Order: sequence, then structure tokens, then C-alpha cells
Amino acid sequence: MSARPYAAAPADPLAAFAAALPKAELHLHLVGSAAPATVARLAARHPAAGVPADTGALREFFRFRDFPHFIEVYQAVHSLVRSAEDVRTLVTGLARDLAAHQVRYAEVTVTPYTHLRDGLDGDDLLDGLARGRAEAAAEHGVDLAWCFDIPGERGPRAGLETAVFALRNRPEGLVSLGLGGPELGVGRALFTEAFTLAREAGLHSVPHAGETTGPATIWSALHDLGAERIGHGTSCVHDPRLLDHLAEHRVPVEVCPTSNVRTRQVGSIDAHPVRRMLDHGLLVTLNTDDPPMFGATLTGEYLAVARSLGLGRDELAALARNAARAAFMAEPARARLLAEIDGLVAATPWTYPPAPDEAAEA
Ligand SMILES: [Zn+2]
Repeated sequence: MSARPYAAAPADPLAAFAAALPKAELHLHLVGSAAPATVARLAARHPAAGVPADTGALREFFRFRDFPHFIEVYQAVHSLVRSAEDVRTLVTGLARDLAAHQVRYAEVTVTPYTHLRDGLDGDDLLDGLARGRAEAAAEHGVDLAWCFDIPGERGPRAGLETAVFALRNRPEGLVSLGLGGPELGVGRALFTEAFTLAREAGLHSVPHAGETTGPATIWSALHDLGAERIGHGTSCVHDPRLLDHLAEHRVPVEVCPTSNVRTRQVGSIDAHPVRRMLDHGLLVTLNTDDPPMFGATLTGEYLAVARSLGLGRDELAALARNAARAAFMAEPARARLLAEIDGLVAATPWTYPPAPDEAAEA
């Protein structure tokens, strides 16, 4: 489970380093992170829901034709979460997958409003989260934190209900209020009251903004919702003044490259604005969003960006440090994670890409 130092360069040093890198994941959704094996367990528990309980059939079910199909699958999985035990199953499945990618800490987005509307009892949701979180720490060494998010398409009332549910219950590990769903026609400012309540009570503000709409949405997230990190934020590159602002104020951006390609917001990893964000000195963090649904892993995101941008060991380690710094984690845990990253770099005596003379020999 622990990071394995390499005495000599392995066959694919970059992939080995990306895999071994101790990581923090700041943008992933609990329901969207359910692996086929986890969905199979839930589907077997609730056969009437009509979701395949066989892993092979599930892989087919997960093959998205288009964005509406993705939403359909997402909602089908959501409808399988009906008890505290179902929530616990989701959380522990996620923790197992995170541990396999050396993720030490993750902020996981949960949408209480949607769960409650689907008939899950609020106490069961909280009980399942608490039990899953304890198991994640004890059995997988993964420290989980929660972001309760507002499904934007449900409007400001859902926003207030989410904030009130969060503050009334204030579960252990809850660090932030988020805002997801479609951006078009769902202005960030609609949710000012919910975010003001949450921020006054000490929760952090982490809305999605600029994933499917332009830079004005990101400005609104900053001004109206006091955003401390930006979910996705891909369209920031279209506004030089915004790029300057994000760089100057060190506002972290939760970049989810594969997700943006799969939802067709960008054409390919090579065309992803992450290159311009890094060139502009933004505090970029790499994340998975809905990993199995998008065929993503956090290791894979680091590797894909490294290959596309020609990054090496030190740049990858810098990205991992960015996530540790942008995380709403306790200081001793942050210091431990940063030390672990430094330790891996020190124990990896090669660099990548290779020096010109090594490349010439190969
Ligand atoms: Zn997201």
C-alpha cells in the first residue's frame, strides 16, 4: 500500500512514478465514483430497479452514447442508494479504489437533496457516510472529507435546504458547500443566500463554475459565492484578467481533464486548457470527477497530463503538492502528505524525460 521507492528506473518510469505518487483528490462525486463491482452489489440488493447486477453487463451499461445517456446512468445508480448500508457500500468501495491509486485524502461530493428526494432517510445518509468514512480510514488508510453540494437545476430553494441540512447535522468530515448540475440558465448568484449561510458557519465554498459556460460564471462564483476553489473552471483561459486574478490570489482550480473530454467540453487531453493554466501560473490540481463512469483514475489523470505536456518527475510532484496545499485538510495530515511526496521524489533517483545523452543512447 505504501509508496515503493525505485532504486533504478523501471520500464516506464513516468507511469511508475505517477502510480506511486501520494495524492489528494479534491473533486469527485460519491455516486459517480461507484465502480461496476459496487454498482453490481447495489443492483443485486435492489433487483426491481432494473440495473444489471452482472459486471459484464454493467460495463456495457456504463458505455456512454452521449451526455443524456450519462445522466440516465447516473440517475439509475443514484436510485440504488436506499439505505445506510447502501451508502456505506458506496463509500468503502470508493475508499478501496482510492487507496489503489495512493490517494491519502479525498474530498467527496455528496448531494443530500437528491438522495432525500429519492427516498433515502437523512439519518441513514449520515449514518452510512460516518460508517463508511471510519472504515475508509481504518481499512484503507484513506482520510475522507465531505462536500455537500446543491443540485443547481433544483433552484435556490434546494440550495437553502442543502445548506440547512449541512449545518443542522454538521457531520464529522464536512468541510464545504458545493454547487453542481447544469450551468447554463442556472446563474451562480441564485445561490448566494445558501453560500452566505454556509460560509458564516465556517464551511468552505467550492462551486462548479466555467465547465460548460464562460468566464462570467467563474467571476460570479468568486464574487457572489466567495468561491475558494473553482470546480473545473476550464473557461477561465478565455479571460486574461480572470487568469491574472486566479494566479495572483492563488485560487486553486479543480481540473478534471478526462471528464472534460468525455463530456465533450474539450476535444482531447492535448487540447485541454490545463496547459495554459499552468503556463499562467495557476494553482492547478488534477481530479477525476466521476472516475469509473468516465474511465478515469487519478493516476491516469496525472499520467495523461504529463504525457501531453511533456512533464517530468518534478512537475508531477508539484501537481501533487498543489492538491495537498489546496485541500481543506488538517495541518498535521497536510504536512505528512507533503513529506511523503518529498520522500518519493528523493527515493526516485532518475528524472524524466531523460537527459539528452540518455535519450540518444536509447
Ligand atoms: Zn463535478
